[in-house]
Amino acid sequence: MEAFFRAQKPIDLHLHSNVSDGTDTPAEVVRAAHAAGVRTMALTDHDTTAGWAEAAAECSRLDMTFIGGMEITARGARGGGVHMLAYLFDPEEGELLAAVNNTLDARIPRLQEMTERLADDFDITWDDVLAESDGKSIGRPHLASAMIRRGHATDTDDFFERIVTKDSKYYISSPGIDVRDVIRLVRQAGGVAITAHPVGRHSHVMPREHMLALKAAGLHGFELGHRENKKNPEGLAALTGYAAEFDLIVTGSSDYHGTRKPNRPGEFQTEPEMLKRIIDESTGYAPIYPES
Ligand code: AMP
Ligand code: ZN
Ligand code: FE
Ligand code: FE
Repeated sequence: MEAFFRAQKPIDLHLHSNVSDGTDTPAEVVRAAHAAGVRTMALTDHDTTAGWAEAAAECSRLDMTFIGGMEITARGARGGGVHMLAYLFDPEEGELLAAVNNTLDARIPRLQEMTERLADDFDITWDDVLAESDGKSIGRPHLASAMIRRGHATDTDDFFERIVTKDSKYYISSPGIDVRDVIRLVRQAGGVAITAHPVGRHSHVMPREHMLALKAAGLHGFELGHRENKKNPEGLAALTGYAAEFDLIVTGSSDYHGTRKPNRPGEFQTEPEMLKRIIDESTGYAPIYPES
């Protein structure tokens, strides 16, 4: 392998810290990944890069390669939520930064309103929810933890599947801009845009015109290796076909959230040649390789 590409396998490009809705500090995420054998990792907190410095320092200490990442909350063509993984973009680029900061700001009144709706039926307060969030990127998982702590839900799945389902009166969709605009902003910031868990929580197969629109907007690829994709084999087969046809970048990653999800670091991995394409196609930020 060329001297400039020194990332070691296994490669996991999707992990969350308590800067968003994981339960580990950024340094603890790196240690958990290292303990699981991972040697190259991206920290991808929701709509924030606030954990990069701490994670990069711990990666250096453990001789791991650090890839700057973020999972951007977006809206798809049908108005549903889409998560876009962005890699190696300039974290200071103004337009992208403004967009994700808007999303972060909008998360607060949304969660407050959901908490108020739940408070009509359950003993739960906004302070309970705030007590669950160490970072500034707050979301439904923090509300889930507060409900579990209060004894209203047995675990995260119980919260999402029994209480705050998408058609329940408690649910409010997440904020975020159109997925095509997210892709343009990530590219403008020199980054690479990969749709996270692209077939996970719904049963539909992506129509061809939808794929063409994403391609035209500049989408780089799909996270095909992710435990949630297994729930929709037809959808996954369609995206696998599109990836081959359009020569897209394909990744695999864990989506580790500490104790909030069963996902373990390294449970899905990205092939080195795919990471090399991400590095080659990005201009906003460089991987941080081990010293030696
Ligand atoms: P939010 O952005 O506030 O809508 O929260 C989205 C986050 O909630 C995702 O990143 C997941 O980590 C988590 N989540 C969404 N749906 C589920 C689910 N069915 N089970 C467990 N976690 C979920
Ligand atoms: Zn999350
Ligand atoms: Fe996600
Ligand atoms: Fe995620």
